[in-house]
Amino acid sequence: MIISTGTASGKSLAYLTPAVAACLDGGTILYLTPTKALAADQLRSLRELRITQLRAASFDGDTPFEERTWVRQHANYVLTNPDMLHRSILPRHSQWSSFFRRLRMIVVDECHGYRGVFGSHVAQILRRLRRVCARYGSRPTFLLASATASEPGAFAMRLTGLEMDEVTVDASPKGATTIALWEPPLTELRGEGGAPVRRTATAEAADLLADLVLADVRTLAFVRSRRGAETVALTARAKLADVAFSLSGHFPNPPAPLTPAAHQDGLTTAHSSPAPHREGPTTSQDSPATHQDGLTTSQDGPAMGQDGAATGPDGHATDRDGHATSLDGHATSPDSHATGQGGEASGPVPESSLNWALPDSPPHPDWAELPNKIAAYRAGYLAEDRRLLEKALRAGTLMGLATTNALELGVDVSGLDAVLIAGWPGTRASLWQQAGRAGRDGQDALAVLIARDDPLDTYLVHHPQALFGRPVEAIVLDPDNPYVLGPHLCAAAAEIPLTEDDLPIFGDTTSTVLDDLVAQALLRRRPAGWFWTRRERATDLADIRGGGGAPIQVVESSTGRLLGSVDEPSAHTTVHTGAVYLHQGETFLVEVLDLEAGVALVSGANPDFTTFARDITDISILATQRSQPLGSGTLHFGEVEVTRQVVSYLKRRLQSGEMLGDEPLDLPPRTLRTRAVWWTLPASAVAPLAESGIDLGGAAHAAEHASIGLLPLFATCDRWDIGGVSTELHADTGLLTVFVYDGHEGGAGFAERGYARAADWLTATREAITSCECERGCPSCIQSPKCGNGNEPLHKRGAVRLLNTLLSPQ
Ligand SMILES: [Zn+2]
Ligand SMILES: [Zn+2]
Repeated sequence: MIISTGTASGKSLAYLTPAVAACLDGGTILYLTPTKALAADQLRSLRELRITQLRAASFDGDTPFEERTWVRQHANYVLTNPDMLHRSILPRHSQWSSFFRRLRMIVVDECHGYRGVFGSHVAQILRRLRRVCARYGSRPTFLLASATASEPGAFAMRLTGLEMDEVTVDASPKGATTIALWEPPLTELRGEGGAPVRRTATAEAADLLADLVLADVRTLAFVRSRRGAETVALTARAKLADVAFSLSGHFPNPPAPLTPAAHQDGLTTAHSSPAPHREGPTTSQDSPATHQDGLTTSQDGPAMGQDGAATGPDGHATDRDGHATSLDGHATSPDSHATGQGGEASGPVPESSLNWALPDSPPHPDWAELPNKIAAYRAGYLAEDRRLLEKALRAGTLMGLATTNALELGVDVSGLDAVLIAGWPGTRASLWQQAGRAGRDGQDALAVLIARDDPLDTYLVHHPQALFGRPVEAIVLDPDNPYVLGPHLCAAAAEIPLTEDDLPIFGDTTSTVLDDLVAQALLRRRPAGWFWTRRERATDLADIRGGGGAPIQVVESSTGRLLGSVDEPSAHTTVHTGAVYLHQGETFLVEVLDLEAGVALVSGANPDFTTFARDITDISILATQRSQPLGSGTLHFGEVEVTRQVVSYLKRRLQSGEMLGDEPLDLPPRTLRTRAVWWTLPASAVAPLAESGIDLGGAAHAAEHASIGLLPLFATCDRWDIGGVSTELHADTGLLTVFVYDGHEGGAGFAERGYARAADWLTATREAITSCECERGCPSCIQSPKCGNGNEPLHKRGAVRLLNTLLSPQ
């Protein structure tokens, strides 16, 4: 059964009731969440039930070894995550025999988190779990809980491999939430190619956060990257410090630490990795190695850990211009703050303020503490830090929290009044989930979606009909991905040798993949079945959180302090030698990246430039699996090989964007075998465009950027999960070709979804471009923050003409 309803609709109660009943009846329960933080929350609420027969315990990386035996032998409600299931519980199932024998129910909470490659891994882990249960004679019920998703039953079936019933009607009482769609204004600043630059979503979020906190509105700001979250908190605190100063005449107390002490993230994903500044400034350069025979090829890689969340010049944490003007009208005399005259909290940019009236009584008698009412939060904090934050939020000593997305949150943050969402969170499902955090005890609430300069954000704030009254996205995963399946078959064989009877559990491609594994000498075929006979741990073959390769440790060279870790593919673009690296609001320069040692040595610095990695990408078609006509062109889906190499990085002056140089880098190429969707247009269709003076390479490149930006509207991915290559003439097709590929080994289902929804997807792409008011292209339409070509060449009008040609019926 899958329950797929909104935040705070009572899903927990729905699975807790039968689960607790099963425990009282002598059964056991296995509870899975994507993060250990959520498991800790659940554990707390279970303990608050005060039922003595309920012996709930979490089993994760933090569980001390001396407690583990107790959990295995005595707990009847075990809370864990897929990683622990994969690495510890399933491989040592015999130690858990009494638990498995009595297992009645498996709760898979927050299961919308299991999408893409990670979801495909979890799907295989759940199949292994089913096999182990069968071994001990139990047939537990799977109960899945998810935020709203379209076709949740179909998704749940892909995830578990079992037929599923779905519950989708949400009848819980709720206050009204006012949703605002907020487009930051264009500024005077000029970015790449002279394009106008919008005020950043983080800068607007910081203003709104400060204003709301001043108005005593408990607010959570969701920011896409942890660097962005830290910037929002820092900027909002700086505003409050200025307000406190102007009202009290004194500088506030020295600020408390912005966040609890840094801890290393065990579970960072590529998307939350820190990244150098990459917004704004101007550049133009040749695309090296991509001009072949006068033809242009442009490439845009997928998730290499570059942050989407912009921190443009005016969002930079150190920029406090204009903050002193906050709370205009409040006199500077120290006691005037107590007058409660309903002055308005107005930010430095008038349009960006909500103009909330201050309440009648002074909400913050202790002005000195004002800035400390805002903090930043990200994944990786210890449980006690999280509890401290929760307590502070509940007590009102903390009024504003800037954070990365909800799944990482692991903090009980119900009881908020407002939610700011800086940048489209990727899916309608996440939007409603994040917005649903606001609303104390059924009261009315406010949620503001602040657009980033990104084609999808632009499209959405101009097309509210794409948000409201529409079903949320399908959750996409691909359990048949052979790169995912293979390692799990090895792990399964190590747990209990595989037999012919097991094959249907793992899907149609199982026997082919098994033959491969035998050929690679990973498994041995014997009459009784397939065996794992190697010494290593089979589970080490599967890297379920993706990324591939051991993470690179980021270490401060003068002190040896470990600042964090970056996964290996991201390291090439974010912590290459010479890169500007931001951590907790501090700036560092990478002295050297040593891939072999797995270390990037950094030192504190205050450079007046940003860095931007550039790469060269080649794509070749390995197999075309599906094709269909699309307007004047043809659409294809199939397997491709993508080779990317980071070759240099650009240095640009922080404020002006002036080019300071292009420094070569010596990094190895990375090869990716994956799936792609691509479209081609015949020469006869593009010739008239070229004759009318359109730069076809620039047009295709622009269309590619915008289409990468829009695909997340149709598949649950974000633009960092996918990459693209566009070319006026591709060697394999002999035609103008635009590729969009899954950025994960073996594919993740995103490109396939693009193939299935191509007409809608490319139509929305065209509308995103035409609805942006800029003239020649900007980050809100055709420029990409992760373009390996430095956004050159791009042709906005040409992209629209090209898409018109592609979409017009033949
Ligand atoms: Zn634009
Ligand atoms: Zn590009």
